[in-house]
Amino acid sequence: MSHPLTSRVTGPVLTPDHEGFAEEIAPHNRAIAHAPDVAVGAASTQDVAETVRWAAEQGVPLHVLATGHGATTPVTSGVLLTTRRLGGVEVDPETRVATIGAGARWSDVVPVADAHGLTPIAGSSANVGVAGYLLGGGLGPFARSHGYSSDLLESLTVVTGTGEVVEASAEAHPDLFWALRGGKVGLGVVTQLRLRLVAMPELYAGTLFFGAEHIDAALRGWLAWTPTADAATTTSAAIVRFPPLEVIPEFLRGRTVLLLRVARPGDEAAGTAAAAPLRALAPAFLDTVGVLPAARAAEIHNDPGQPGPGWVRGMLLDRADDELADAWLGLVGADATTPFMAAELRHVAGATGVDVPGGSAVSGRGSAFVVAVASGDPSRFAELPAAADAITEALGPWASAEVNPNFSGTGTAVWEPAAADRLVQVRQTYDPAGVFA
Ligand SMILES: Cc1cc2nc3c(=O)[nH]c(=O)nc-3n(C[C@H](O)[C@H](O)[C@H](O)COP(=O)(O)OP(=O)(O)OC[C@H]3O[C@@H](n4cnc5c(N)ncnc54)[C@H](O)[C@@H]3O)c2cc1C
Repeated sequence: MSHPLTSRVTGPVLTPDHEGFAEEIAPHNRAIAHAPDVAVGAASTQDVAETVRWAAEQGVPLHVLATGHGATTPVTSGVLLTTRRLGGVEVDPETRVATIGAGARWSDVVPVADAHGLTPIAGSSANVGVAGYLLGGGLGPFARSHGYSSDLLESLTVVTGTGEVVEASAEAHPDLFWALRGGKVGLGVVTQLRLRLVAMPELYAGTLFFGAEHIDAALRGWLAWTPTADAATTTSAAIVRFPPLEVIPEFLRGRTVLLLRVARPGDEAAGTAAAAPLRALAPAFLDTVGVLPAARAAEIHNDPGQPGPGWVRGMLLDRADDELADAWLGLVGADATTPFMAAELRHVAGATGVDVPGGSAVSGRGSAFVVAVASGDPSRFAELPAAADAITEALGPWASAEVNPNFSGTGTAVWEPAAADRLVQVRQTYDPAGVFA
């Protein structure tokens, strides 16, 4: 017998006995195995609205899967609505606004924008889904020069918990628009969004690679330099323990290195001047920092693109000082014993600190650094929660009260109390029955 949703939507409706079910629900993060009762591959906004109404009628939870980069908890029941068929990217060169389907990844947006001499303010990975990223705010390699990516949102098309289709913008449903910019979950299913692009004709960016023997000096020096960084320069420092695997380029295989990423929109001369103190921190064994087309900004971080198992935990810091450097190097430095493959600090504290005129639900406006620890080695996953807890505790004196949902790694986040209360109210207004799990 066919599923009752089959007659209500045009996209595929798949139950566990259907061929293609496993493929439909597989997230990028293969450590998570979803097991919903039914998967719906939405092919239109109308499909989303029908699916939400059906879930509300039946009293079953509805979850959203785009790329699965943010998959942290397995879905064990209800409907899993997949958005990958809601594609499409169009750019209006006059207004510099891109209209983006909720199934798009940044890699879908970049070439279309680039054809018009424009670029999106995306995250570190081109594979991440645009909608899921923006719902959490979004901090990428241009965080200091351009702020949270969600600050550039003009409007979103959203299916609410009652199955109503609404446009949320500064003028229409401003409370929902406030919440969608950083409030992440429980607000509706985004089917399309409009995002301002920027012109970035020149960019100076890349990575300085420091060997294990220089990690201490380079990390300490970088942290001491960050308060002097110019407003256009965004940097991050990741201590990475590359496994001794064939897939890893030979020059990194089995090594512990510090990757100091630098991104500065602007010309080569200004970029060279900005990067000079970083090049002086310690001898880099590889230096890829130079003129880079903005369309290749994903090369700054070179995040892994293939689906695979992943575990991440993150937090925000209000400040950093010498004691923070001691603590961090003690936890994850070259001589430390840690189960994490990557331990990253991203310097923000720039345009990120300036809210949009109407305000937004972004958590972490006042933070200065993002912390993320991650591993892709399932044989060590059992050790990670306790190790991450130890890091969270050790960094407590520098921690922000807020936790951003894109980096928490737990699917949850912490907002400042007034924002948290307001989010509860907006969720009650737009999802009164609590359909969005
Ligand atoms: C390799 C990697 C690099 C990353 N880099 C950055 C970075 O530089 N900056 C940053 O801020 N974050 C970064 N992230 C975090 C990322 O932004 C979040 O995990 C984001 O939620 C991923 O969205 P997705 O659609 O790709 O993933 P999914 O797992 O498919 O979606 C995650 C969640 O987003 C929500 N969602 C997605 N689409 C919709 C929709 N259409 N309507 C309603 N809700 C929706 C749902 O709650 C869903 O559970 C990174 C993550 C990874 C794995």
